[in-house]
Amino acid sequence: MTRTSEIDRYLDALLAVGQFKDYGPNGLQVQGKAEVQQVILGVTASRALIDAAIAARADAVLVHHGLFWRGQDGRLTGWLAERVKRLMAHDINLFAYHLPLDAHPELGNNAALGARLGWRADARFGDQALGFTGALAEPVALHALADRVQKALDRDAVVLPGDGRPIRRVAWCSGGAQGQFEAAIAAGADVYLTGELSEPQMHLAAESGVAFIAAGHHATERYGVQALGAHLAERFGLKVQFVDLPNPA
Ligand SMILES: [Zn+2]
Repeated sequence: MTRTSEIDRYLDALLAVGQFKDYGPNGLQVQGKAEVQQVILGVTASRALIDAAIAARADAVLVHHGLFWRGQDGRLTGWLAERVKRLMAHDINLFAYHLPLDAHPELGNNAALGARLGWRADARFGDQALGFTGALAEPVALHALADRVQKALDRDAVVLPGDGRPIRRVAWCSGGAQGQFEAAIAAGADVYLTGELSEPQMHLAAESGVAFIAAGHHATERYGVQALGAHLAERFGLKVQFVDLPNPA
């Protein structure tokens, strides 16, 4: 058993929570039991994930996407009430780390996504230096690189081809980071990988010649929380279990 407050303090320091300007609070979002042994890990604190934690008799849920975001009006009604009610009825702690979990150089989403793809970063770019960029060991064709991404993530990706140049430098940022495409281009990338695609990226890829791959918001953000969970298991002897609830977005 580890005290909830100790885990909160530890993660706050480990993930340098105070250094980020984020869209919601990072850390303990819903307080439950004072001590934690079993933790359910997931991408999003959805009702389905919370139900899985209840079924597993977990003491805590650790996620990338928590419950509270800028733009909400503060009311605990509807879907949000249902989620909070379930957590509180079962005394389950909810820990959520958004941008600090994207950014961590070893345990974060981008570090873990890079490790899964065999990409090593030699620089960071974009908003709050969340983006990772690095050189490949050898130049590859875009279709070979896209194949590798799809196999590694077990998911189809949308690929915008750019100008067909060999890929020497890659840049990546997990989740909904399509808005960082221009920063990736400025950082010298030949391809940019993120989770989501919006309308402007089609034109930017065509006009800049830099390829763009959208491999899924959920799919690209599954790995940080697992790396962080493994770290907590080792550090505190916690029992952790990742629950994947696939999402086509
Ligand atoms: Zn996200």
